[in-house]
Amino acid sequence: NQEKLSKYEKIEGFVRGFKLSSLTYKRIMQLLHEEMNSGLSKTTNHMADIKMFPTFVRSLPDGTEKGKYLALDLGGTNFRVLMVELNGKDVDIQSKTYLIPQRIMLGTGTQLFDHIADCICKFVNTHDIMGEKLPLGFTFSFPCKQEGLATARLSKWTKGFRCEGVVGEDLCILLHEALKRKGNIDVEVVAIINDAVGTLMSTAHSDRNCEIGLILGTGCNACYMENLEHVGLWDGEIRNPKQVIVNTEWGAFGDNGCLDFIRTEYDRELDTFSINPGKQILEKMISGMYMGEIVRLVLERLTMEGLLFSGVDRECELFVRGRFYTKYVSEIESDHDEFFRNTKQALDELGLEGYSSEDCKIVKYVCTLISARAAFLSAAGLATLINKINKPNMTIAVDGSLYRFHPRFHNLMCLKMKELVRPGLKFQLQLSHDGSGKGAALVAAVATRLR
Ligand code: ADP
Repeated sequence: NQEKLSKYEKIEGFVRGFKLSSLTYKRIMQLLHEEMNSGLSKTTNHMADIKMFPTFVRSLPDGTEKGKYLALDLGGTNFRVLMVELNGKDVDIQSKTYLIPQRIMLGTGTQLFDHIADCICKFVNTHDIMGEKLPLGFTFSFPCKQEGLATARLSKWTKGFRCEGVVGEDLCILLHEALKRKGNIDVEVVAIINDAVGTLMSTAHSDRNCEIGLILGTGCNACYMENLEHVGLWDGEIRNPKQVIVNTEWGAFGDNGCLDFIRTEYDRELDTFSINPGKQILEKMISGMYMGEIVRLVLERLTMEGLLFSGVDRECELFVRGRFYTKYVSEIESDHDEFFRNTKQALDELGLEGYSSEDCKIVKYVCTLISARAAFLSAAGLATLINKINKPNMTIAVDGSLYRFHPRFHNLMCLKMKELVRPGLKFQLQLSHDGSGKGAALVAAVATRLR
């Protein structure tokens, strides 16, 4: 027993860094709040990691939006083309998903936009809408500086993309040029937004209290409706409504080192081997693209220390970077009895053999620590926004596979938010549907209505 105890004590020593106190989360909120304000101000924005981009989306939908729209969704694993028909509360969506091969994600911008144009062409052909010049909303979920609703320049690639010749370029022009190269297709891009904005718009369509959008998918980002008087960066017109959705791009929080006091050795190693070292530090502690890899690094370490999987074959895939998918974390944490059915399946897929029930228990424990830290960090981010907006009752629209499928993410977030949100302010987290499609169409609809 003594031996067992000391084994668990040893394990604890390797995972302690994932357990953060309430005081630490409050400190993070304070830093985030300062960084957001610095991002919002014209004089300090260049020094801030969080860019707080004004989006030019000034109004939320009111439920009366009508019409047929095309929408594009690029920003993670897949590319989708959608046709969205809005008619009051009724929304009809037809969509097709196209894979973006790795060689295109890491190729040239021309290849990427030619691929997009190809997919649009196929979609328009099969849906028999060749002749119709439908207004198009483009959900492009990477940090962009907007110069107008339909003018956006990429400020940097994230989430595994690195296409040459796109940073700093006007995306609408790149899309139009690619479509022109295809020759036979005409669209009018009326809005470029990101998935967080789409998520917010989609839920706001039926919920007037929705003022925050959050993404917990491949990446992690949030946006919210802000008063123009707080947006020092804004130099557009200041007619009513005196508000604009701000895309925080808070995934970059910590890039200046301010989160180093909470980063573990595993966070550092993951970052070193990523395609964007030193960038997107908060995102790398939270989102679906990275969480599985953090778990893998811990399991690898425990194995090396002789605390897990004794006698394991060093050739097994547990030792291969990127091989432990974030969906395993959801599956493993869904095991609620001593049979560890999902855990065993994941371990089998990694080629592990001869593991014990105790190993399964340890693997599950590691998953719970890392997903809880991610949920608590997301909660701290939202609580910062809620306290900043300071309205009595707020809905937060959330989308992304991590939030959608992880068995405890929602509950963990709510728990921590109750602790961190100023007393008296009420909130609810609402799973949003079709943000990138319906949201983009709604922005396009609101935009065409206003002109
Ligand atoms: P995107 O953000 O790319 O638009 P998703 O919201 O589907 O799309 O997020 C994809 C990310 O979610 C991937 O990084 C993947 O690892 C992660 N993911 C997929 N399935 C699950 C799951 N069941 N539980 C947790 N994370 C998941």
